[in-house]
Amino acid sequence: MSDCLFCRIARKEIPARIAYEDDQVLAFEDIGPQAPTHTLVIPKRHIATLNDVGADDEPLLGHMVQVAARLARDKGLAASGFRLVANCMEGAGQSVFHLHLHLLGGRRFTWPPG
Ligand code: 5GP
Ligand code: ZN
Repeated sequence: MSDCLFCRIARKEIPARIAYEDDQVLAFEDIGPQAPTHTLVIPKRHIATLNDVGADDEPLLGHMVQVAARLARDKGLAASGFRLVANCMEGAGQSVFHLHLHLLGGRRFTWPPG
């Protein structure tokens, strides 16, 4: 989608601190980090929300999770722990309507989330 913020980041029209990239996904540092590690993993293809994920997207979603877990391991978070979050729709806190996983780590997290 031409005017979508994360599509524009994926096209490098807007700068971001890129942590990982391949043909399917991009990982970049969140502009407003909520933890010492706060990295976003997005599909390069525009998918608005988890509500829009179909059966064909299973490999892509699995890849996003695997990339996030590998980044967590590379950042030394495997043993201490980390959190993967996907907010779906405004009621859950979604503010950018291009699917993304938040990789959060480097501090203790409480449960339930706020
Ligand atoms: P959501 O609230 O949709 O789950 O998460 C959107 C995330 O995108 C937020 O954590 C916010 O800080 C981040 N964000 C919003 N605009 C930008 C931007 O222009 N660049 C980067 N790197 N992150 C952004
Ligand atoms: Zn998009």
